[in-house]
Amino acid sequence: MTDATSKPQDTGLHAPTDMLTRGFDPALSVGSARPAVFRSSTYVFPSPEAAERAFDLSAGRARPAPGESVALIYSRFNHPNAEILEEQIVPLEPGASCALVFNSGMSAIMNALLAFLKPGATLVYSVPIYGGTQKLIQAFLEPWGVRGVPVHAGRGGELDAALRDNPQVGVVLIETPANPTLTMTDIARACRSAAGVSPRPLVMVDNTMLGPTFQHPLELGADLVLYSATKYLSGFSDLIGGVALARDPELLRKLKLLRNLFGTILQPDECWMLNSRLPTVELRMRQAAANARRIAKRLARHAKIARVLYPALFTDPAQIAIREAQCEASGAMLSIELAGGKPAAFEFLRRLRIARNAVSLGGVETLVCHPKTTTHSGFSEKEFAAAGVTDGLVRISIGVEDWRDLLADFEQALGSG
Ligand SMILES: *Cc1c(COP(=O)(O)O)cnc(C)c1O
Repeated sequence: MTDATSKPQDTGLHAPTDMLTRGFDPALSVGSARPAVFRSSTYVFPSPEAAERAFDLSAGRARPAPGESVALIYSRFNHPNAEILEEQIVPLEPGASCALVFNSGMSAIMNALLAFLKPGATLVYSVPIYGGTQKLIQAFLEPWGVRGVPVHAGRGGELDAALRDNPQVGVVLIETPANPTLTMTDIARACRSAAGVSPRPLVMVDNTMLGPTFQHPLELGADLVLYSATKYLSGFSDLIGGVALARDPELLRKLKLLRNLFGTILQPDECWMLNSRLPTVELRMRQAAANARRIAKRLARHAKIARVLYPALFTDPAQIAIREAQCEASGAMLSIELAGGKPAAFEFLRRLRIARNAVSLGGVETLVCHPKTTTHSGFSEKEFAAAGVTDGLVRISIGVEDWRDLLADFEQALGSG
């Protein structure tokens, strides 16, 4: 297990210090301690030559010289708040050298897949995967000509076979732990398997559930890390955003050319908000995870709960081995299966007083939902069975309330009789 904050970055500073001291020059914001919000769609060029150079660089016809300051052009390509955020978020992800921000997690995933897949290519992806990602693959990428090959979370052999048996695998996309069962996929093993294929497919990890604090895919060999910043990174359930991070700037250069075309950059106000949340990501995640661990252990003993799905409570030795190798902690997501099925699950949701019945996750407030009828309602019966999404399953995103109040709320909602 690694401690991201214990390791100095390239600057010689530890991550929390590096994040708070890089990427922003108060002199460029009339001396304000916090960056201004630059709500401008276009930027005035200092000279026609500077405009010409900026366009050559933006279109990829030239590369910037080290230390070269490049004129801003137009806010669909770039703007100061995105630049500041992209600089400051890098130290949060061990192994990253660069970042790009997007106007949703889905647009980060879409840009990444479209940058590296073309019709005829194969995409190997772990299931269950986020519903929007599944829909993007099945309703858009497959009709467009990409062959999508799902492999079950946690079954390394299935992934190896998919890489062996399919031509032109361009991308392996892993989401771990899987939602809502928290089954883990071995990232290092997937990277080793991908390295055995020629040409080597890129390994992308949707790290929304445990990153950036508890799981570091780039250090395990992944090429690209993707986030729904809507969740833990922003943390207050008040904005939609996405991030892509990589060790190799060349990979993000390709994504950026597409982002320029698609118009999927995160807007200045959202960049400013997300920027202000970065220094507390680790504090929030650690507090929520400590709460979740205590609550999961106690709920596991409750008579009305058939099982609690939470990494710290894994019993399968293979899953425990993956958890030990790639996760610093179990995170703040857990699922409980109520013995009374759907009626018991709905009654539980109706009775909650502190936790709220809503989809999404990663906020400071505790959110609870019934995956089978909401987030996963598009699944077929076969997919429900394969993903372990049962009638009695309730997903809980634990927040930073006092854990004793949350536990009491869950216990009263479960009822006594
Ligand atoms: C929410 C989520 C997404 C999609 O992100 P948006 O910001 O809603 O577009 C993708 N992956 C995972 C794991 C998510 O939880």
